[in-house]
Amino acid sequence: MIEDKTPKRTTLTDLGEFGLIKHLTEKFMVSHPSTEKGIGDDAAVIAPEEGKKLVVSTDLLIEGVHFDLSYMPLKHLGYKAVMVNLSDIYAMNASATQITVSLAVSDRFPLEALEALYEGIALACKIYNVDLVGGDTTSSTKGMLISVTALGTAKPASIAYRSGAKPNDLLVVTGDLGGAYMGLQILEREKEVFKVNPNNQPDLDQYTYIIERQLKPEARKDIVELLEKLNVKPTAMIDISDGLSSEILHLSEASGVGCDLYEEKIPLDPQVISTCEEFNMNSSVPALNGGEDYELLFTISQEDFQKIKGNPNLTVIGHMTEKPEGNHLITRMGAKIPLKAQGWNAIN
Ligand code: ADP
Ligand code: MG
Repeated sequence: MIEDKTPKRTTLTDLGEFGLIKHLTEKFMVSHPSTEKGIGDDAAVIAPEEGKKLVVSTDLLIEGVHFDLSYMPLKHLGYKAVMVNLSDIYAMNASATQITVSLAVSDRFPLEALEALYEGIALACKIYNVDLVGGDTTSSTKGMLISVTALGTAKPASIAYRSGAKPNDLLVVTGDLGGAYMGLQILEREKEVFKVNPNNQPDLDQYTYIIERQLKPEARKDIVELLEKLNVKPTAMIDISDGLSSEILHLSEASGVGCDLYEEKIPLDPQVISTCEEFNMNSSVPALNGGEDYELLFTISQEDFQKIKGNPNLTVIGHMTEKPEGNHLITRMGAKIPLKAQGWNAIN
């Protein structure tokens, strides 16, 4: 007998909207004490801890604009859609507690595709300890749209806004930068190769870290916990969803200060450096202008430097200045050039 290798395809219309929602969400359990009512009523009911503020953030992801399903497995997409939102909650120095997920899908997607998407969402909920408490499901004429809303809480005094940076504060970044962008370059390149030669088996071993940074980013929950442990309250904070340059400009603008950023201090993974060499690119370019790294960028007062010094997760990359001084990049060669949202032409 010939084994049927075609994956199972159950059409969404077979299930109907209510059947679909039930099927996708029935395995989700809630675990937060603050989740009084999750999925299943007209609205979820949340009871935030006494004395805490509620923090809310939403993102909308659109197929063909924010993700490409030709190289993004749906499980990863589900995971990433949650990460993008949790990252915004952590960027307020808050802890994330609940999410809602809204979906619009065309009938080109079988049930099995949505099951994979929800597997990724479930994994993210489990690892990051957040409850899925609701959402909406509807059809789209073309493609897929996913919107996630994340809820979190924070002690009022702990919340870090973009607006609190002062001149002389140190500028700190977590992890390393540019990986997600270089991973995307590799995936785009392999997609083109595949179009020409579908039998080509790419060897991607030397790119595993950067591809993972693109397909399976992690939000920095650990940093919020670390800062609390170190007793450091960032004076301002933002997450790096676009490039470092544009995030610095947002922080400076909101805080009414300027910034000196040192190119040589920007943390880069060796795979970013080697892949940039392959693409004949200055390795600061993906860090400054790439995006999707989902690291945190924050400022601390100078007195707190001793507390973070030597921590492998944290790198001081510059300091804030008086507003009239403006925002600058000090290049490896020692040149001082204005920092622009797309300022990499100048250092190329
Ligand atoms: P309503 O008609 O009141 O919007 P729905 O039938 O859309 O109700 O939703 C029923 C329940 O299922 C609600 O609790 C809603 O939040 C939840 N829900 C709907 N779609 C999703 C989804 N894609 N993911 C998670 N929960 C969902
Ligand atoms: Mg609804």
